[in-house]
Amino acid sequence: MEEVLYKSTRSRKEPVKASEAILKGLSEDGGLFVPDHIPALDKSLAAFSKMNYQETAYEVMKLYLTDFTEEELKNCIAKAYDEKFDTEAIAPLTEAEGAYYLELFHGATIAFKDMALSILPHLMTTAAKKNHVKDEIVILTATSGDTGKAALAGFAGVEGTRIIVFYPKNGVSPIQEKQMVTQKGSNTYVVGITGNFDDAQTGVKRLFGDRELEKELAEAGFRFSSANSINIGRLVPQIVYYVYAYARLLAEGRITEGENINVVVPTGNFGNILAAFYAKNMGLPIGRLICASNDNKVLYDFFATGTYDRNREFVLTSSPSMDILISSNLERLIYRIAGNDEEKTAELMAALSSGGKYEITQQMREALSDFYGNYAGEEETAAAIKKLYTDCGYVIDTHTAVASAVYGKYKTDTQDMTKTVIASTASPYKFTRSVMDAMGEGSSDMDDFALADALSGLSGVAVPAAVEEIRTAPVLHNHVCDKEEMKEVVKKFLGV
Ligand SMILES: *Cc1c(COP(=O)(O)O)cnc(C)c1O
Repeated sequence: MEEVLYKSTRSRKEPVKASEAILKGLSEDGGLFVPDHIPALDKSLAAFSKMNYQETAYEVMKLYLTDFTEEELKNCIAKAYDEKFDTEAIAPLTEAEGAYYLELFHGATIAFKDMALSILPHLMTTAAKKNHVKDEIVILTATSGDTGKAALAGFAGVEGTRIIVFYPKNGVSPIQEKQMVTQKGSNTYVVGITGNFDDAQTGVKRLFGDRELEKELAEAGFRFSSANSINIGRLVPQIVYYVYAYARLLAEGRITEGENINVVVPTGNFGNILAAFYAKNMGLPIGRLICASNDNKVLYDFFATGTYDRNREFVLTSSPSMDILISSNLERLIYRIAGNDEEKTAELMAALSSGGKYEITQQMREALSDFYGNYAGEEETAAAIKKLYTDCGYVIDTHTAVASAVYGKYKTDTQDMTKTVIASTASPYKFTRSVMDAMGEGSSDMDDFALADALSGLSGVAVPAAVEEIRTAPVLHNHVCDKEEMKEVVKKFLGV
């Protein structure tokens, strides 16, 4: 098998092995690690249609994580995709109104981040062993809600690791916040910051780039790594479920081998849709990649105009995990459409960080023809929830609803009737109030748990264990800090 090495999007620094890229998270020059080539699937689609999720995961991930042995990788996969998921299918498909909803929310924290974050800690500790790293790994994460809890759940109690999560104090749902602040595990630390997600993410990036801090930590036996979606250890496991979804459709006779499908992804940091793009480039028959945004429609504008411009008002929506103005993973796509040009990428990213915007070339725009971008406002999102519930009794969450609404626009715009998979990224029980309001069943007298019980009555789907658990759980984290204080907070927690 041909080795895949990982290089920075911003310079010609020496490429590193997969395990090193996973440990580092981000390249020292501030760039993201990208595979030096995208490997092709080496099994037929028919062969994939006979595999379960774990087998598919191995066949896909082995192509990227080429310095992991078969035993190491299979071991990581077995530890990740087990009974933590409430269905053996791991990522089941549900057909509703002519589209296939790929439910990526059956893991420990009922959002799609579990798909990657249940395996990342195992990839990381395996990578540390392989590289003879003795330091304790400190995971530093900025979250718009879902990553935080999924990362906490993944890393809590994992020996040789600590995890610090920063979230926007007023920018996550009550259930999301409760999930995080009730996290057990002496290696976990959760901090609310007075700012939005971009402030948290920028602050975390600054800490990663702080050489002085790095030195201080090294002396104390710590090293940083990232569980954010910029880590290739997040990206690679996300490719798996697109291959799996295609294979399931094939196995069920819904498509024929080689038939194209479209994919719709509710997008924030551009990690999930980038995984679909990689899957397509590995040879999976995907037609259009439909990028769905909420009112923070910076990506829609980018696809429409070729200019990425974050200078705009940040809008809080009912799909908070997509309330993002800097989609970090887009840098990997930029690099690719620039013809794997690190200088061009570095130039554009410098423009983004100084002036908040950049414009791609005409040639780069042409390379984006696989993508279609659109967005759904709050009313359209709520209407999508209501319609699916009324027409088929299927309840989707607000993020998935953005995708559903955008898919409707896509069909109207293009008349393209290709079979379509919609990434369903969270359980409706994670955003119960917004979902119930959209269904016309909300009530301000009811707390989130009462609403969850009512939703269960209406949808016939049991309240997930992840919600049951936090009903009575005590709050264990109540730290709040200013975005300027993040460094002090980290040092205090680590006792440096
Ligand atoms: C993180 C998240 C998204 C956005 O995914 P990206 O990979 O950041 O584009 C969408 N929906 C939900 C529920 C999420 O948690």
